[in-house]
Amino acid sequence: MNSTFSLDDAIRKIPDFPKPGILFYDITGILVNPEAFRFCIDRMVEIYKDRKIDAIAAIESRGFIFAAPFAERMGIPLILIRKKGKLPGKTWACKYALEYGTAEIEVHQTDVKSGERILVMDDLIATGGTLNAAKNVLEQGGAEVAGFFGVVGLPFLNYQKVLGDAEVTTLIEYQ
Ligand code: 5GP
Repeated sequence: MNSTFSLDDAIRKIPDFPKPGILFYDITGILVNPEAFRFCIDRMVEIYKDRKIDAIAAIESRGFIFAAPFAERMGIPLILIRKKGKLPGKTWACKYALEYGTAEIEVHQTDVKSGERILVMDDLIATGGTLNAAKNVLEQGGAEVAGFFGVVGLPFLNYQKVLGDAEVTTLIEYQ
């Protein structure tokens, strides 16, 4: 990182969104800043280039944005994990708890190859519930999670506890 650039500055902090008391970390500020976006993708490639990763799986929708250039640069498949009802083929699915209610994510069965080591990513890791559900759908297909990645991490929400022994990597963390 050079002196004119700060990833923290590129992430807007929006108080009381989507509801009172929540501080939302807005990554759209990274996307409109080519230097910040390139920094994120370069760092991801640097971190994972020598690891044995067969594919990257990303969570709809902001996870897709970072995972697509990364997959292309790494020369590995990009697996889309989507909200229920969006994927046309046969899927593995997992329901998971949100603060209020539940959500469900799916992955195409044909996209998950048994025995593969898959890196799973999203733009931000809060409680880890979404990434843990992603792990579940990939494991239904016989794959193994090689690690979790988030551009932003909120470790005070204890995601490492939910994600168990798996390696969790982030580019920036907020307390
Ligand atoms: P978790 O399942 O880890 O509790 O929540 C992570 C999911 O919620 C991710 O899909 C992420 O996009 C979204 N999310 C929760 N809080 C924020 C936030 O402050 N900023 C952004 N960009 N996404 C958030």
